[in-house]
Amino acid sequence: MNEKKMPPCMLNCPAHINIGEVLNFIKQKKFLDAINLVKENLPLPASIARICPHPCEFKCTRNFKDGAINIHQIRIFLADMFLNKKFDFEIKENVEPQKKVCVIGAGPAGISCAYFLSLLGHKIFVFDQMSEPGGMLKYGVPEYRLPKKILNREINFFDELEIDFTGNMKVDKKKFNELKNKFDAIILAIGAWKAKKIKCVGEENFYNGIEFLRNIKVNKKKMEELVDGKKIAVIGGGNTAIDICRSAIRLNAKEVINIYRRTKNEMPAEISEINDAIDEGVIFKELLSPTKILLDDENKKILFMEKYKLGEKDFDGRASIIKTNEILTEKFDLIILAVGQDVEADFFEGEKNIDGTIKINDCFETSEKKIFCIGDAIRNKNRIAINAIADAKKVCEHVNNFLLGKELICKEEIADVKKNNSQVKNKFRSERLEMKKRKACERKKDFDEIILPWSEKEFLQEASRCLNCRGCKKNDCE
Ligand SMILES: Cc1cc2nc3c(=O)[nH]c(=O)nc-3n(C[C@H](O)[C@H](O)[C@H](O)COP(=O)(O)OP(=O)(O)OC[C@H]3O[C@@H](n4cnc5c(N)ncnc54)[C@H](O)[C@@H]3O)c2cc1C
Repeated sequence: MNEKKMPPCMLNCPAHINIGEVLNFIKQKKFLDAINLVKENLPLPASIARICPHPCEFKCTRNFKDGAINIHQIRIFLADMFLNKKFDFEIKENVEPQKKVCVIGAGPAGISCAYFLSLLGHKIFVFDQMSEPGGMLKYGVPEYRLPKKILNREINFFDELEIDFTGNMKVDKKKFNELKNKFDAIILAIGAWKAKKIKCVGEENFYNGIEFLRNIKVNKKKMEELVDGKKIAVIGGGNTAIDICRSAIRLNAKEVINIYRRTKNEMPAEISEINDAIDEGVIFKELLSPTKILLDDENKKILFMEKYKLGEKDFDGRASIIKTNEILTEKFDLIILAVGQDVEADFFEGEKNIDGTIKINDCFETSEKKIFCIGDAIRNKNRIAINAIADAKKVCEHVNNFLLGKELICKEEIADVKKNNSQVKNKFRSERLEMKKRKACERKKDFDEIILPWSEKEFLQEASRCLNCRGCKKNDCE
């Protein structure tokens, strides 16, 4: 669909899922048509429905009056209906001999490439350093937000589409050269797995945040022993830091304190995640940044923190921070650092950006011939799964053209996100049905999923709130 004709929700979804049409199908109880439409752009509908920040909702016309359609929970209900059903795949037969594509990295970007390219008739080989596919969705995002069994169920299409997966294979220079000689095209989907550091005396005493979450997935018992009854500090204000805080609560920490150099209002983490963390007992200490860690006689960590205050807004609209020269100290058993991740791609000798992300053109081609790159490895902002999956859909069209010897048309997409000032007419008012969640006092005791399912009645009721707008030209808005 031409971008200009897209309804605001579809336009604001990086993968341009036709949400309006999906909701139309749901209203008519055509659930299979609805899920098929989602799957045109998204091979992991139940997993992504759970964790996506749903930018589609920000632009929903109802957001300006009585609350955006709860697309988040509608999509979970819809996708869960089909979780155990087999889909009929229509595989294109267009290449003879069949071309072989190598995908390095089995996160949402790599998994989606494998899906879209297999449907286009190519033979796909996926390599990953971890034993199982899933990337950060499996080894980062905690179980209580995305249960592993749901993700695994969705990745089952690897078998159905005969995608070849090799785990425990960290690609280095030697392996990369081998792959280059063997495959017709390579897609790098390696994410950003190197934890960022901060300048701090005694920084070797920090526990690496990404490793903390990964270890919970790999050896939960060991992590329970590490955290049980301990006082924990978590440094950072992103989703990873909040996931660590909430996971530490579930591992029975005595106290979990989040330390951030701005305030909660400036945190990059989702506001709903921050509020859930507060409800679960995480303590937030603001305007503090670590400068030094010393160990006492009992091996406890004394954290020295500089106190800041907020200043003028800087170029990206966030309040700047100003030193106050006040130093505070506090003792912890464990201090976890989660201030972001860098791309780890030493094996790749092509061009990189100054921040270490891999340089690409508008067709996702790197500076090396037949090597493409997508996902977290090409961006250091807006690192969310739906962006990685949107990249995958686009790159697959380019890789397909490349494999078929066609010219690659690399035009930059013009983001035409119109400001939506439409107002919902009062006679059409109906309040948003909120997410159902387990109570904080219960959910904080385990890693079970926190979202509770809706009934079909609730699902249909919320879908029926959709105004079916194309920028709201119908009579429902003024
Ligand atoms: C704790 C945490 C919570 C998050 N929460 C959310 C959320 O709620 N919602 C959301 O939308 N996004 C969230 N994200 C971000 C999201 O997970 C990423 O944007 C997304 O996973 C990026 O997909 P990707 O495929 O590019 O990279 P990844 O998912 O990181 O996958 C990269 C894969 O490449 C593999 N790999 C790396 N190097 C090599 C190598 N040399 N050889 C072989 N394999 C290699 C890795 O093992 C990994 O499997 C979160 C991230 C983290 C860390």
